[in-house]
Amino acid sequence: MRLVTFAPTDGVRRDGERHIGAMDGDAVVDISAGDPGLPVDMVDLIATWDLARVAAAKDRGPRSPLSDVRLLAPLRVRKNVFAVGRNYHDHAHEFSKSGFDASEKKVIPEHPVIFTKAPTSVIGPDDAIVLANDPTGTSDYEGEMAVVIGRRCRGARRENALDNVFGWTIVNDVTARDLQQKHVQWFVGKSPDTFCPIGPCITTIDELPDIRSSWLRTTVNGELRQEVPISDLIFDVESLIVTLSDVMTLEPGDVIATGTGVGVGIGFDPPKFLTAGDLVEVSIDGIGTLRNPVA
Ligand code: ZN
Repeated sequence: MRLVTFAPTDGVRRDGERHIGAMDGDAVVDISAGDPGLPVDMVDLIATWDLARVAAAKDRGPRSPLSDVRLLAPLRVRKNVFAVGRNYHDHAHEFSKSGFDASEKKVIPEHPVIFTKAPTSVIGPDDAIVLANDPTGTSDYEGEMAVVIGRRCRGARRENALDNVFGWTIVNDVTARDLQQKHVQWFVGKSPDTFCPIGPCITTIDELPDIRSSWLRTTVNGELRQEVPISDLIFDVESLIVTLSDVMTLEPGDVIATGTGVGVGIGFDPPKFLTAGDLVEVSIDGIGTLRNPVA
């Protein structure tokens, strides 16, 4: 299933109401109406991990055309979004050459470079990335596949690490490059408000068991900038879960953005930073397209 969080826009329901839905072609089936006993918060729903009950609710729920609803970020993160730097070879080289990486000299890391993005940076599909939040004017896109954790886990082993994955989504790891460089630690440059678009849905792992066979594509105003196979990840999903859960408890609803591919704005000479009026679209086979205007 491809699960979404949405606000009905047909005027029938109260403002601020959020429901969980399942995508079905050009329609959204209202899971929350199909089974009012299910949690309406996606993280709570993930924690139950009762996909049979969700599927039954999908059979009963009312359908709306996608155009009649407003998709929100599929989940409200309860802690920082985990993210991984330099996790594709070609991107590691372009980032190193750009001069914006103040963190270390080695181009290909020996261990995953893990940082986080503040929860307040999260926005949903079609929400605007607001450039005014980056006073340096060096905002850049990073299309990424992201893992949604489904099970509380500590000390996961590689062979069953994927048992802890609920599904996959898309993150645009928008970055203020000058802040990323100036502060050495990436947190500030990665966390301006609106700099973490997530969505449009969470594709459950039973529907997309092999994410490595998917490709990631990013366009800006329709111009293809990134096109990489997920199989090119330096540290794969299993490695990232093992690394994190070796020292900390992962919880349902945790999001791990796995890193971006070659073709970010600073890979160009001169750099192609985002400007107001741009439209950034990140697509991954089996998940969909995360589309955000830039304001
Ligand atoms: Zn990134």
